[in-house]
Amino acid sequence: MSILILAEHDGQALKPATRRVVGAASSWTLPADVLVVGSQAVAREAAQLAGIRQVLHLECDAVPVAEELAPLLVELMHEHSVLLAAHSSLARDVLPRAAALLDVAMIGDAVRITGPASYVRPMYAGRLLAKVDSRDAIQVVTVRAPLFTPVGDAPAVPIQTLPALTGSATTRRIAANQQVSERPQLASARVVVSGGRALGEQFDTLLAPLAETLGAALGATRAAVDAGFAANELQVGQTGIVVAPGIYLAVGLSGAAQHLAGMSDSDVIVAINQDPDAPIFKVADYGLVGNLFETVPAVTRAIRQLQERQA
Ligand SMILES: Cc1cc2nc3c(=O)[nH]c(=O)nc-3n(C[C@H](O)[C@H](O)[C@H](O)COP(=O)(O)OP(=O)(O)OC[C@H]3O[C@@H](n4cnc5c(N)ncnc54)[C@H](O)[C@@H]3O)c2cc1C
Repeated sequence: MSILILAEHDGQALKPATRRVVGAASSWTLPADVLVVGSQAVAREAAQLAGIRQVLHLECDAVPVAEELAPLLVELMHEHSVLLAAHSSLARDVLPRAAALLDVAMIGDAVRITGPASYVRPMYAGRLLAKVDSRDAIQVVTVRAPLFTPVGDAPAVPIQTLPALTGSATTRRIAANQQVSERPQLASARVVVSGGRALGEQFDTLLAPLAETLGAALGATRAAVDAGFAANELQVGQTGIVVAPGIYLAVGLSGAAQHLAGMSDSDVIVAINQDPDAPIFKVADYGLVGNLFETVPAVTRAIRQLQERQA
C-alpha cells in the first residue's frame, strides 16, 4: 500500500510544511503520493519533492470546502493506506471528516512516528505525551510539521490529473481574508517574537521593530488576540498555530499551558516578564526580568547597534 499526503500551499507555492510532511512520510517504507488541490504551478513544484512517487492533481482556483474535499480523500484511500497532512487549519477541517467517513480513528498532531501504526502525540494541552497504537487498516494522521526534517528537490515525478469535483456541497466558501505581510510565515519562521496581553495597544509599536531587526515572524497569545491587540492568525498555542523555531522570544506573556502547547518545542526560548515567578521562566533558556515597555526598546536598540558594528 502507499501514503497519500495532502499538500498545503498558498495558491502560488507549496508551504514549507509540505516538505516536512513528506519528510515524515519516510517513517514508513511505503511509496508516497502528494495530492495537490490547486494550480498547475503548485502541482509542478510538488512533482519535484524528493522521495515521492507521483503527484495527484485536482485543478481548482480555491481549495474546496471540507465537505467536498473529504469524499475525494475517501475515494483516493482505496489505493492508499496512510492519509498524512500537517496539523494545519485545513487538515484539522478535512481529515477528521475523512476519518469519520472511512470509519477509522483520527490521529492528530503526532510529534513522533514510532512504527507503521504507532505514534506519540500531546494530550491535555501538552501536559503529557501519549503513545497511540492504531489497529485501523487505514491510518489518518496529522503531524506537527516543524518537528520533521524537510525534503529537498529531485527530478520531477509524473503528475496524474484527477477529474473535477461535482460540487454537491451544502456549504460554500464566500471569501478568504488573508493578511499580507513581508515578515516570514509564523508556522515556518526561524525566529518568532511573540507578545502577550501585557503589551496592550502597544503590541505592534513595540514588537514590530524588534521582529524586523531579527527577521522574525510575529506571534501572540490568545489573550492578546481576544483583546484585539494582535490579529487572529498570530495566535500561537493549543487553539492557534504550533511553532518550533530556532528562537522564540516571549514578551509579556505568562506561559499558560495552552500557550506552551504551541511553542515549547522551540530550540531556544527567551522570556521577558516583570514577574520573576511567571511560569514562562520554567521553560525559558534565557530570562529577562523587567518592565517590557523599557526592556523591549532597549533590546531592539542593542541588537541594531550590534548589527551595525558587524556590518
Ligand atoms: C481551551 C483553551 C484554549 C486556549 N488556547 C490558547 C492558545 O492557543 N494560545 C494561548 O496563548 N492561550 C490559549 N488559551 C488561553 C490561556 O489559558 C491564557 O489565558 C493565555 O495564554 C494568557 O495570555 P497572556 O500570557 O498574554 O496573558 P496573562 O496570563 O495575563 O499574562 C500576562 C503576563 O504579562 C506580564 N506582564 C504584565 N505587565 C508587564 C510589563 N509591563 N512588563 C513585562 N511583563 C509584564 C505578567 O507578569 C504576566 O505574566 C486557551 C485557553 C483555553 C481555556
